[in-house]
Amino acid sequence: MSIIHKEGLEKQFIFNLKECNTTGFNDPLNEDVYSPSKGLIHRYPDRVLLTITNRCFAYCRFCFRKKNWSHFPGFDLSGAVKYISDHKEIREVLISGGDPFTLNIKHLESILKNIRNIKHIEVIRIGTRVLTSNPITVTHDYVGIIKNYKPIWIVAHINHPDEITPEFADAAEKIVNSGIPILSQTVLLNGINNDKKTLKRLFCKLAGMGIKPYYLFGCDQAVGNRHFRVSIDEALEIMRSLRCNISGICMPAFAFDLPNGGGKVVLEPETIVSRQNGRYILKNFEGRRYIYEDV
Ligand SMILES: *Cc1c(COP(=O)(O)O)cnc(C)c1O
Repeated sequence: MSIIHKEGLEKQFIFNLKECNTTGFNDPLNEDVYSPSKGLIHRYPDRVLLTITNRCFAYCRFCFRKKNWSHFPGFDLSGAVKYISDHKEIREVLISGGDPFTLNIKHLESILKNIRNIKHIEVIRIGTRVLTSNPITVTHDYVGIIKNYKPIWIVAHINHPDEITPEFADAAEKIVNSGIPILSQTVLLNGINNDKKTLKRLFCKLAGMGIKPYYLFGCDQAVGNRHFRVSIDEALEIMRSLRCNISGICMPAFAFDLPNGGGKVVLEPETIVSRQNGRYILKNFEGRRYIYEDV
């Protein structure tokens, strides 16, 4: 891979002394509190997150699960699978890690099979860094196995347009052609991608490959992440500028995870200027104000 020399990109993966600022949390999302069974996090009503490995292709310095990096237990998921089977309100299983695609394909397939066998699970979602950080894993044979467990959605973690290599494009095309939709998630990172031009280039390139930008996340408050964080004001200004410049299919939602297990919150640049007796003053994408009479 040729990305390592790119200024901005390398900062995602290489240790920086600023990480010695140890403000922040070991488990910023309080995931341990919402874990009914090993590897499983049940925070939202209809979906669960299943972490199946701590191994990853990337080990980003701002990872909010970096407390897990030092140990690679064999994950026994039987408790998690039983919990999901017993909870009929769960419609979707989000498989993450680490990176699920670091598992050998037979192992990953056995997990997909176990989940697909649960009648009330409608959708499987897989969060991965494979497209940016090890795209050659994604062979036709590999995709041929995964697609047997559709409906599957893949969510690719990518933070910078220069992470889109020809290998990335090849792998994405194989996945999309097999009928598996791809979404992207991006972390807003100070000094790496916190400018409109970079993000515009990223999101438009992704949409051009059939990948829908899904979330732009504020960087979680994990220990050592302080220097990567971008203020909410700056994030919303970037979102406002993108919204008036690029197509809706290129636009992710800006969200971050509240500390103490509050869950995700989505923030939008303000469009309501005032509201009184059903009479709204709204701001359009150009910043112009309009009166809108509500029903
Ligand atoms: C982010 C997350 C999800 C998925 O949330 P969506 O808004 O559906 O993308 C599910 N469970 C946990 C624990 C999460 O952190």
